[in-house]
Amino acid sequence: MNIYEKMDKKYAYDGALGAICTREKTEFAVWSPYAEGASVNLYRDSVCEKPYNTVEMRSENGVWKTEVSGDLHGVYYTYSLTIGGKVNETIDIYAQSAGANGIRGMVADMSHTNPKGWEKSEYVKLNSYTDAVLYELHIRDFSIDKSGSFKHRGKFAAFTENGVTNANGDKIGLDYIKELGVTHIHLLPSFDYGSVDETDDKPQFNWGYDPVNYNMPEGSYSSDASDGLTRVTEFKEMVQAAHNHGLGIVMDVVYNHTYFAKGSPFDKTVPGYYYRHKKNGILSDGSACGNEFASERAMARKFICDSLCMWAKEYKVDGFRFDLMGLIDVETLNLCAKKLREINPNVILYGEGWTGGACPLDENLRAMKKNAVKVPNIAMFSDDFRDGLKGSVFIAKDTGYVNGGANSESAELVKSLLCGGLKNLDIKRDADEIWTDDPGQTVNYVEAHDNLTLFDKLHVSCPKSDEKTLIAIDKLTAALIFLAQGIPFIQAGQEMLRSKPLPDGGFDENSYKSPDAVNSIKWNKIAENKDIVDYYRGLIAIRRKFPQLRLRSADEIRERVKFEDIGGGALAMCIDGLVAVFNPTNKSVTFKKPGNYDVYADERNASDKPLRRHSGNLVAEPHSVIFAERETV
Ligand code: CA
Repeated sequence: MNIYEKMDKKYAYDGALGAICTREKTEFAVWSPYAEGASVNLYRDSVCEKPYNTVEMRSENGVWKTEVSGDLHGVYYTYSLTIGGKVNETIDIYAQSAGANGIRGMVADMSHTNPKGWEKSEYVKLNSYTDAVLYELHIRDFSIDKSGSFKHRGKFAAFTENGVTNANGDKIGLDYIKELGVTHIHLLPSFDYGSVDETDDKPQFNWGYDPVNYNMPEGSYSSDASDGLTRVTEFKEMVQAAHNHGLGIVMDVVYNHTYFAKGSPFDKTVPGYYYRHKKNGILSDGSACGNEFASERAMARKFICDSLCMWAKEYKVDGFRFDLMGLIDVETLNLCAKKLREINPNVILYGEGWTGGACPLDENLRAMKKNAVKVPNIAMFSDDFRDGLKGSVFIAKDTGYVNGGANSESAELVKSLLCGGLKNLDIKRDADEIWTDDPGQTVNYVEAHDNLTLFDKLHVSCPKSDEKTLIAIDKLTAALIFLAQGIPFIQAGQEMLRSKPLPDGGFDENSYKSPDAVNSIKWNKIAENKDIVDYYRGLIAIRRKFPQLRLRSADEIRERVKFEDIGGGALAMCIDGLVAVFNPTNKSVTFKKPGNYDVYADERNASDKPLRRHSGNLVAEPHSVIFAERETV
């Protein structure tokens, strides 16, 4: 047993932690077994110099507790923990809110933070993960650009605005996202992170993968970062607005590391305990962000679990996306999944089944892609799909199936990807590349916040192609995403040819702190690229119309999804009477199976209503798909 295992054995605690506030009293409890003494400091606001009261706490086997009578709702607090003779003043790692920059916690009776009608706000229904259509969005990007008529630019509150438009008068905002047909908005980190100074109004941008306080919304997205209650209510209003549109909210959660380790609230509360170390005692860095959170330790596991359940219950968040999930142990994730499903059986969970570097915890215990079977019902991003379709993200000019790499070999890979990458398909693919046998476990995507956008990647990897061809390839790629078995995922704006151009030429492939000019959603692009937006919308509608595109079990897929090679990498996928002919080549191809077809998608349009009736063989134009339903006789 290492020291932390011994600590867990002796001190692990299963009760409530944090500040539990009612009208009559507040109970404070903090787990800090190394502490020799502890007190809670109460402050009138988040910046005043001195506490108005300091109350001693008593230890019950490492849990320091006290009770303060009266209504403390809205009071700020910190703990002073004496460890090794030194006093650490720290925010509570369980604090539900804070003032600017998350320095002091706030005591909050959360029942007083609910917007009007909150009790009627309901989680979105999700019968199967394969019914989800995910849309990844950064809160600031959504509303900061002047092309949108938002009043609350860059804030949670922008999501509550109705009737917003671009300069062309097109609907934007949540109304637009709803009409696109997606089921969930996946928000980039929106808990309290550290890289943006909440007290400074100058434009600042960060993706937010630098957690400070996990259990409260980020202050810079609030209309008043200094008041802890505002961010809580505004976050709930955002969720409520999404639910009113029938859209779910997925939070990107970053439990794999914190902004900094030394001097962090976790480190001040229980030095060393919450982080993994190498054999030589220095912090391990499997996140490539300086440290990694030790999810396998009892109180770290409890923390992650409590935190997720709090977001699901208190804020009615519909799902979670785990950043660098390969650093989190499977036991923790399975426990969290179980508890979350008790709160909301429709919750959706997925994450990155990889790490950012070497990790000291046994790989067999971690939620890596190769261990997908150990975390059933937690989906993982398919980098096979991402790179197979358009080339590696690590080599800008590298190509895949759609952008110049089509041949009989890449066609085999694409067949496998169209089937959700399952085992035992009648398809030539290396067995070690297969990591799941559940279509609900693969998130199919080609573009996310990381790396080049799809359209930028096509520009870089096909320098000789004209704009018209690149758009055709973009649409073909979209068809592969939405007609594939699994869970489709796009980055916000992908449907309007989102681009992140650098001021001096080229494209930004790591825009984590790039200015708004690079990152923001340019809403006028809806008008400029109307055909493409309509095409994505049509593909999503097709996916929602035909349950055959959303099969729920591996056996059904193995039985019903069939392929025919057409040559040059082109292929036909048949599911019952549905036929999709994917043509990545620069010549038209014919699928020789004459019949009467209702055509739903071709090189120009896509819709859930038939575009036309067609008799004879199906022909797919260069760099395009044709998708049709065959009349059964
Ligand atoms: Ca912050």
